[in-house]
Amino acid sequence: MRLSKYFLPVLKETPKEAEIVSHRLMLRAAMLKQEASGLYAWLPMGYRVLRKVQAIIEQEQDRAGAIELLMPTLQPADLWRESGRYDAYGKEMLRVTDRHERDMLYGPTNEEMITSIFRSNVKSYKDLPLNLYHIQWKFRDEIRPRFGTMRSREFLMKDAYSFDLDKEASVKSYHRMFVAYLRTYYRMGLTAIPMQAETGPIGGDLSHEFIVLADTGESGVFCDKALLDQPIPPKDVDYDGDLTSYVNDWTKMYAATEDMIDMDKFQAEVPEDRRVEARGIEVGQVFYFGTKYSEPMGATVADANGQEVPVHMGSYGIGLTRLVPAIIEASHDDDGIIWPVSVAPFELALINLKTGDEGCVAQCDALYKQLDNAGIEVLYDDRDMGAGGKFATADLIGLPYQMIVGPRGLKNNEVEIKNRKTGERTNVSLEQAVDFLL
Ligand code: ATP
Ligand code: MG
Ligand code: MG
Ligand code: MG
Repeated sequence: MRLSKYFLPVLKETPKEAEIVSHRLMLRAAMLKQEASGLYAWLPMGYRVLRKVQAIIEQEQDRAGAIELLMPTLQPADLWRESGRYDAYGKEMLRVTDRHERDMLYGPTNEEMITSIFRSNVKSYKDLPLNLYHIQWKFRDEIRPRFGTMRSREFLMKDAYSFDLDKEASVKSYHRMFVAYLRTYYRMGLTAIPMQAETGPIGGDLSHEFIVLADTGESGVFCDKALLDQPIPPKDVDYDGDLTSYVNDWTKMYAATEDMIDMDKFQAEVPEDRRVEARGIEVGQVFYFGTKYSEPMGATVADANGQEVPVHMGSYGIGLTRLVPAIIEASHDDDGIIWPVSVAPFELALINLKTGDEGCVAQCDALYKQLDNAGIEVLYDDRDMGAGGKFATADLIGLPYQMIVGPRGLKNNEVEIKNRKTGERTNVSLEQAVDFLL
């Protein structure tokens, strides 16, 4: 992508309304534009990151055996009357009426709808286990939308729903999602700690919130410091096998949110020098809630004896539009964002220091082609302006590498490659410039 032809309206000034660093940087780096309270347009730079986050989530969900579909954002109120949640959900639910005076709502979550899909299609225990997920916009009319997309009213969520014959099988499904979550956050450069959590309006009796520690987080959390170094299940983890040991390793040490904290237990179980009392960002939550929806909504299957039994269910959410700022909270410096390669909007900023110089332009154009051919996503700063502004933009938008091309280096047949994270600069010959990044 040539920056001269791209849409990247970066801001020089720090927007006053933004209270936390990720919100400031998302606005300054032209990732977002607020349209109304809690409603945001994702500008091209932001949207590229969001799609990278989505791709990682999809890959890890698929590996864990979940199957992707897509449900609508609007839902009929009648479905929610069946579960009893239409009245119970309260003011967070955005209720609308269509031209035929039918009650509708903008989905804050999809337990009811997925249960209706399940009950009209699955009749036998032989079709279980089943886990269906989608990545779709949700609406919750939050009392205090704030911090940009960290807490917005419309937000993108991955929500998966598992269906099993009994509790034991359902807990296995829960474990598969639990392990997939650990891997998902890890691939985005985050340490997300599963913590015992309250189940809230979803209901049920087993739940973990996945929390990224950050001073700007909205949840108070308590955990054992050793969890920060706990190894992540490997890429080739066997999702058909027994995952209990991974889950046990991650849950045997104390970790709870402020809603669930048992201070006596925390102090008894965690030695003083390992007690972490901190703030955190909830980037996902998993629930096992048994037959809470299947029973009232009649989602049953025939078991091995031909008996109709309600299925045991779980649901598993990840907030994509919250993850993007969470990654920035975890990875930035005074100059801007520092993207992990896995979610970077582009891998490399190719910076032409001298746009008036024919030799420089020709070399940059050639490098741009070579990098593109090598499959590296490049943002080529070919704008006709001084080097200072180009460096500032590259640092602000946080691409993992900068390739700096100027007349002086070219005299020695060299370009400079800067690592955004470490600040390390390396001179590399033109011939080796592309290979250096592979
Ligand atoms: P919170 O406690 O922050 O209000 P929640 O517990 O109500 O979140 P869940 O119902 O567990 O949210 O939804 C799953 C995930 O969706 C959350 O873990 C979070 O990552 C994300 N999420 C929830 N509400 C919002 C929001 N208003 N803006 C952005 N992401 C959200
Ligand atoms: Mg909430
Ligand atoms: Mg919560
Ligand atoms: Mg939650």
